Amino acid sequence: MLRCTSKRDLQVYHIRKNGGNGIGNAVVLCSKCHVASSSYDIPGEKPPDFDQETIKNAMIRATYQCECKSSRGCH
Ligand SMILES: [Zn+2]
Ligand SMILES: [Zn+2]
Repeated sequence: MLRCTSKRDLQVYHIRKNGGNGIGNAVVLCSKCHVASSSYDIPGEKPPDFDQETIKNAMIRATYQCECKSSRGCH
């Protein structure tokens, strides 16, 4: 099974809650992959929001599709 390449419902999420709000801590995921990811709803401090420039650059890096690395069907 190929990894998710969804172009719908994309958002930029934090890879690590305490990893800051730089592009190195940003990952573009569709809503399904975000729900399926292990970082979903971990209690703790809410990470800072990304600024618009970082969101735009992350989307460009991801070529406007889901960056989910799972090839085993996380959803
Ligand atoms: Zn996805
Ligand atoms: Zn996925």
